[in-house]
Amino acid sequence: MPVNPFTPGETIVVSGIQSSGTLHIGNYFGALRQHIALQKAHPSYYFIVNYHAMTTVKDAGELRAHTLDAAITYLALGFDPDRSNLFVQSDVPLLNELTWIFFCLTPVSQLEKATSYKDKIAQGLSANCGLFNYPILQASDILIYGGTTVPVGADQRQHIEITRNTAQRFNHSFCPEDPVFPIPEAYIVDSVAVVPGIDGRKMSKSYGNTIGIFDEGKVLSQRIRRIVTDSTPLHAPKDPDTDNVFALLRLFADNVKLEEIREAYLKGGYGYGHAKKELEQQILHHFAAARERRRELLAHPDYVMDVLRQGARNARLRADACMERVRELTGLITTYPA
Ligand code: ADP
Repeated sequence: MPVNPFTPGETIVVSGIQSSGTLHIGNYFGALRQHIALQKAHPSYYFIVNYHAMTTVKDAGELRAHTLDAAITYLALGFDPDRSNLFVQSDVPLLNELTWIFFCLTPVSQLEKATSYKDKIAQGLSANCGLFNYPILQASDILIYGGTTVPVGADQRQHIEITRNTAQRFNHSFCPEDPVFPIPEAYIVDSVAVVPGIDGRKMSKSYGNTIGIFDEGKVLSQRIRRIVTDSTPLHAPKDPDTDNVFALLRLFADNVKLEEIREAYLKGGYGYGHAKKELEQQILHHFAAARERRRELLAHPDYVMDVLRQGARNARLRADACMERVRELTGLITTYPA
């Protein structure tokens, strides 16, 4: 008889990133940086969320390319495959079975209240069922590996609450005496908040307002030039706390530099053009070493595939054990074993 698959009290770090476009500095400060730091201390499962990306990407070549690019980005930024697991979400198709089971426990009203869904619809994305049900697939992503700690950006707070409710509902319905799923906690670095995009809305692949982690040259200059600012003239004092360029500089500049720029804003005679030049330099400098590693990785695609394969193997073992128990608890009998 299958026993509970997860060890009580063990910290398991789980998180994912969509492969719906080039990874951006919002993903980096909100999530990737924490993913790489946390993997040093705990077993971690990080996946490239290509099922979720299908809510917006309808082109096979694009989905494939972004998936591999996301893996290369993780490795370039310092992900260590000897410590943790990096894999592609769809290499664990059992997730879809758990998602179905969770659907049957979730009130529609809970998903109707999800602000991320409402925002995306308000911004003109099509309301497909995938987008609506997104938080439940995310709950499966976290719970199937027994995740306890979920490093995400502040925009994901509500989704993690949905995951927690889902775990509680399952445990309550099927195994109240001996709960299967740990109730995970969001790990959010509060000082980062939500990184703004070049148009001032949340930076997101879905909104086309991103600055890519590895943007450089003309592409980077153009993206930065397009950051929306107000029309305060160069000589006049400016408010750093309401400006998008300053909000981004805050993420990159050290305290001394930041104070210097803040004073220049308040004094006047320092234009948004100056601040944008500074931001470009800071971004280039911050990712210089990672950019170099990325070039090497691009020349070694077989290595990247090996990392993903090994990650998928470990993830599947854990997911298999979880689903064996879940099937038993829910009464899904197996007459034809895989
Ligand atoms: P996107 O909105 O660009 O598609 P994802 O949904 O793939 O991003 O999110 C991946 C991770 O990056 C999540 O943990 C999310 O919270 C974080 N993240 C995404 N955009 C931002 C942002 N603008 N600021 C902070 N964190 C972000």
